[in-house]
Amino acid sequence: MLWMSRLLCVLTRICLMKTSQQSNDSLNSPNKRKMQDDLPTFGPRKKLIKFLAQKVIKGAKISNAPVSLQRVIEHLQTMHDLDVQKITAGDKVSGLLVVCKEVDSEYSTIGFNGNHPWCRRRFTIAHEIGHLLLGHGCNKSMDDDSLNETEANQFAAELLVPQSFLKKDFAQTPNIQDLAKLYRVSEQAITIKVMGSRLL
Ligand SMILES: [Zn+2]
Repeated sequence: MLWMSRLLCVLTRICLMKTSQQSNDSLNSPNKRKMQDDLPTFGPRKKLIKFLAQKVIKGAKISNAPVSLQRVIEHLQTMHDLDVQKITAGDKVSGLLVVCKEVDSEYSTIGFNGNHPWCRRRFTIAHEIGHLLLGHGCNKSMDDDSLNETEANQFAAELLVPQSFLKKDFAQTPNIQDLAKLYRVSEQAITIKVMGSRLL
């Protein structure tokens, strides 16, 4: 039972698909607003998230769309003990992240729902990588969870559709459907990114 004494903790984060109404309710809750007010670093943290995603892209030596998650994972595996596995789960579960911390090591497993469409699986993996790199712990309160989920989504959006790539590609292909195919993300994801980048 030696392995048990070395294991400090296991953090498990399960990511569920939320309806837009649930997300809005949570974001507009008084506690959530207070939390954002109490977080003067929220703005810079948004920049940090973007910077982190760009650093991963650069480290994985990816210079154009589509972003290869295989290369991203291989790059991260040079720094983290990381495994990515397909899981079987109910439709509401998109993915999960398990982080096992031992005295002198840490290893992580990302699980993605293998029954979901390919684009969604890509987003889930990118989202879970965001949780891992941003140091999010296991699910706690709804408000804390919502903030972490937003950050992981911001990370995934920048990882799969880097703003610098999108500006260049949008100039050549200003079409949402074509861009979604090029980046291998959903049309909804590319629309949000295009709008957020003020390209439309
Ligand atoms: Zn999540």
